[in-house]
Amino acid sequence: MIPYGRQTIEKDDIQAVVNVLKSDWLTTGPKVEEFEKAFAEYVGAKYAISFSNGTAALHGAVSSIKKSHNRDEIITTPMTFAATANSILYSDLVPVFVDVEEDTLLIDPQKVESAITEKTIAIIAVDYAGQPCNYDALREIAYKHTLILIADACHSLGAAYKDKKVGTLADMTIFSFHPVKVMTTGEGGMITTDIKSIAEFLKAFRNHGRQSSDMNFLGFNYRLTDIQCALGLSQLRKVDTFVKIRKDIAKDYHDWFRFGNRIIPLFIKEDSAYHLYVVKVENRDVVIKAFTEAGIATVIHYPLVYKHKYYQDRFDANCPIAEKVSKQILSLPIYPTLRYENQLKVISNLF
Ligand SMILES: *Cc1c(COP(=O)(O)O)cnc(C)c1O
Repeated sequence: MIPYGRQTIEKDDIQAVVNVLKSDWLTTGPKVEEFEKAFAEYVGAKYAISFSNGTAALHGAVSSIKKSHNRDEIITTPMTFAATANSILYSDLVPVFVDVEEDTLLIDPQKVESAITEKTIAIIAVDYAGQPCNYDALREIAYKHTLILIADACHSLGAAYKDKKVGTLADMTIFSFHPVKVMTTGEGGMITTDIKSIAEFLKAFRNHGRQSSDMNFLGFNYRLTDIQCALGLSQLRKVDTFVKIRKDIAKDYHDWFRFGNRIIPLFIKEDSAYHLYVVKVENRDVVIKAFTEAGIATVIHYPLVYKHKYYQDRFDANCPIAEKVSKQILSLPIYPTLRYENQLKVISNLF
């Protein structure tokens, strides 16, 4: 089976993990801080706080928002993995789904602004497929209405927006190191921020709510191990290379689809991290059948969050563009070790 994404693990990655296994610290040791420091430096943020996965990091980010009685709404996009919106529910807050722009499938800043009410407390933007959202517009809106801006950058590690790396564009930026993402630690996550009080809260939040030996609030055990952080350090050095290879694969796809009109690739900005390669196809059921027979995984990013049963039973939403496009899209395989012959197999099964 050709998957849509997979990890790239090399000898030095394996050696880094083995070294930790032979050391004194498997968790809460020196590799954690080393990884966090290197990660903060890489994106250009003041603080990086590691988490056991991206979902736990999202939980931490939403939990760091100071609650007030009448403000309980968070604006987000339906074109994302359920975890983005689930993190809002963990804190008993209300997700308000706003529609996307048709060419990029990124949250539409104008619609964000129209959805703001006196109850709105934050925005969670998602860098869908690896492309940074329109952060100039989102930051201006957040500032004007005193909202916290969270970037779910689980797709966009290594991407940039107007020469600023993803990780510095919002109040908090969330990353995931699941094997399909740009780099991996098996499971893993990170939050970057420039706000000291938030960084301190998050460090305690992922460690039972403990600051030094006292427990001040109810937190969780969301720590990332030294084993994973050693892998993270090793992978982090390769992020730019991984993104470059992904970009080359995307360019190859683009060249094939440029002259057709049945297969329409998603618009991709130059500084994307190329996490997903998404095409709109007319006859998706036919393509899915051909892919399945040819041993190519067919994955749709995403069935809209509010269309999941759990959400349908609880929340109303109306995002016509996202609804229309989510019936047409398909993610094609893209990852650094994808062989050219397999890419050709994917392309030939599309035509
Ligand atoms: C992968 C992903 C997450 C969750 O990350 P995990 O590390 O799997 O918990 C959240 N949001 C988006 C957009 C993702 O792609």
